[in-house]
Amino acid sequence: MKKIHNEDLDSMYIGSVQEEYTKIDGRWLRLHYKTSVGLVIFSFLVEFAMGMLLINSEMLTTTVNRFFWKFLIIPSGINLICIALEMFIMKSKRFSQNYKIYSVSLIFVCICFVLFTAHSTFVATYYIFAIAIMLTTIYANYRVTSITALTSIIAIVVSELFVRWDVDKISIFQNTHRLNDFMIALFVLITFSIVCMVAIRFEREKNSASIQKEIERKQLQKSVHMDEMTGIYNRKAFHAELKNVEDTTPDRHHILAIVDIDKFKNINDTWGHHVGDRCLIEFAKILKEFNKNITAFRYGGDEFCLLFRGIDMENAKSICEEIQLKVNGLIFEDYPNLKLTASFGLAAISDEVDTVRLFIHADRALYEAKKTRNAIRVF
Ligand code: GH3
Ligand code: MG
Repeated sequence: MKKIHNEDLDSMYIGSVQEEYTKIDGRWLRLHYKTSVGLVIFSFLVEFAMGMLLINSEMLTTTVNRFFWKFLIIPSGINLICIALEMFIMKSKRFSQNYKIYSVSLIFVCICFVLFTAHSTFVATYYIFAIAIMLTTIYANYRVTSITALTSIIAIVVSELFVRWDVDKISIFQNTHRLNDFMIALFVLITFSIVCMVAIRFEREKNSASIQKEIERKQLQKSVHMDEMTGIYNRKAFHAELKNVEDTTPDRHHILAIVDIDKFKNINDTWGHHVGDRCLIEFAKILKEFNKNITAFRYGGDEFCLLFRGIDMENAKSICEEIQLKVNGLIFEDYPNLKLTASFGLAAISDEVDTVRLFIHADRALYEAKKTRNAIRVF
């Protein structure tokens, strides 16, 4: 069990989930980038094969030289520059992951623009932009997807209205068929973008629902492990923590202290149980002050267990002395005669001492301390 006394469990959990999401986004970003490289290589190979086929079948409407320059060398050259730019951004440590996501998404659109402009004789190439939009939905980020969709639509409009790379291409203003295809493609892509946004919305809803459920589960788990009156961990948490200590590699620096308030029955009998309760609450408050070095548990009644981590017996002892001083110095305004003392039994875990023995040893030390009371004994 980690020290969670002073930390907000919910924000801690949400933070760790977000960290996990960022890692997944990073993995997808690399795949996204590789997809763009794959698309450039694939289109180059297809174009090359098509060129060869056309040359051999003598269906080429232009010269071989012109064909290769227009449809292979220049488009692939521009796309290679895009890939080089992407590679530079991806490799650089100067740019944040968010910046890289935007860059890869927009460079992907740029690659689609080049492929579409070079091949817009084939109306089906309109839908290449759907790939660019779809690939951004994994980030579940409205802005990335909407900017990619908007840029894609602008790219189609610009290419159709202002660029005529292929002389065989028929302008949308010359042919109603072509105009219809253009309008339909715009409609389909806009609808597709909206569907992607809706998908993102539902994905995010699902994510936040599972985060919410997990937070509730953790809160419940936490409440099961807390002592209601004193606000420190309870006996159940103590056993869970001992098991945790056992399961992890033995750490020589685990020290256990069992603390028992002296003559607590007398306090109850003299001043009443409500005063006894206040003593337990004040005692636990002191323990909480030391949560940097110890995890405190109420084992039951007036008995508390303190687990020390990463400190040696000397330091554990001196922390117990500090606690002892504070307990002795407690003043209860309405009961000036009420003085609190406690006895401490300490033991350390080692290769030979398992957690069961650790508890027995600490209990023996406490038994020794009880002989004089208000004492600290080490097994
Ligand atoms: P010793 O110095 O030997 O420890 O004497 P003691 O009187 O403290 O003896 P012991 O530790 O056995 O007594 C524990 C008492 O604590 C018994 C029980 O009545 C009382 N007690 C247990 N739980 C609570 C509680 O939640 N509130 C109050 N007020 N008293 C409790
Ligand atoms: Mg006692």
